[in-house]
Amino acid sequence: MGNRVTVSADGAAVITVGEHQESFGLVVGADGIRSDARQRWGLDRGLRYAGYTAWRGVAPASGHLADAAGETWGDGARFGIVPLPDDQVYWFATLATAPGGIDADAHSTLRQLFSSWHAPIAQLLDATPDGTVLRHDISDLAEFPPSFVRHRGVLLGDAAHAMTPDLGQGAGQAIEDAATLVLLLRDLPAGADQSALDAALTRYDHLRRPRTRALWQQSRRTGAVGQATGTRGRLRDTALRLIPPSLMVRAMTRVQRWAPPSH
Ligand SMILES: Cc1cc2nc3c(=O)[nH]c(=O)nc-3n(C[C@H](O)[C@H](O)[C@H](O)COP(=O)(O)OP(=O)(O)OC[C@H]3O[C@@H](n4cnc5c(N)ncnc54)[C@H](O)[C@@H]3O)c2cc1C
Repeated sequence: MGNRVTVSADGAAVITVGEHQESFGLVVGADGIRSDARQRWGLDRGLRYAGYTAWRGVAPASGHLADAAGETWGDGARFGIVPLPDDQVYWFATLATAPGGIDADAHSTLRQLFSSWHAPIAQLLDATPDGTVLRHDISDLAEFPPSFVRHRGVLLGDAAHAMTPDLGQGAGQAIEDAATLVLLLRDLPAGADQSALDAALTRYDHLRRPRTRALWQQSRRTGAVGQATGTRGRLRDTALRLIPPSLMVRAMTRVQRWAPPSH
């Protein structure tokens, strides 16, 4: 729509767009990390700066550039490489730094930071078109919301559980939220009374909050380890070398495995 939507503070299923007000059976607050719905519904406990900034870009890549994949951890900095379809590579870079930094030229900032890192990092930076690099300071919810539901209002995605991107789960969890909500609402019998809707929303809250809360915490911990500097960083590197890769794969599989709710 491109218009700013305002929800009702008491959680009534009413939205306001400009001068126009409209009622629905349910309002879904999917308005991102700085969710106005979360604030108006009294479920907001503020944001926390995670201590690092992140750059992202996509480079056209073929041949040896397209073969690389993985994440490299350094002293308060990381670089990740993710091959995409159609001869493209997504990359991200992070740096432990104060919030609010601005690059006069993101390419030259990144070249300075990562020029001594392994191939093909410099080549990927060089191949990324000028003016396309994104930079965002990384934040998450300072505290987890006491509920995802306020009467006939329900939070979904980053509005409900904004987490750091360290497990790559933010958008995935938004999709799981949406799938869960759709399945629970779809199962309501035609003409169901308000108590049935209450029960469906309570179930949504019970199904989604434990999983997303655990991932919110785990993402935060992973970010702190990934961005470690100095002695802490060196201790981390030693400890990581001792962990069998199979254990890491199992941990990631646990994060990614999910089944939609059954009856
Ligand atoms: C650096 C970085 C890397 C990431 N990497 C990954 C990754 O690898 N994998 C992953 O799964 N996730 C990743 N994420 C997280 C992912 O981007 C978010 O979790 C996801 O975008 C959340 O989706 P959302 O729809 O809840 O919120 P958003 O994408 O923020 O969408 C909210 C929408 O609501 C609109 N809006 C806000 N307020 C109003 C209003 N009052 N009225 C009308 N519209 C409004 C906004 O304009 C926006 O379009 C990353 C995030 C960052 C910053």
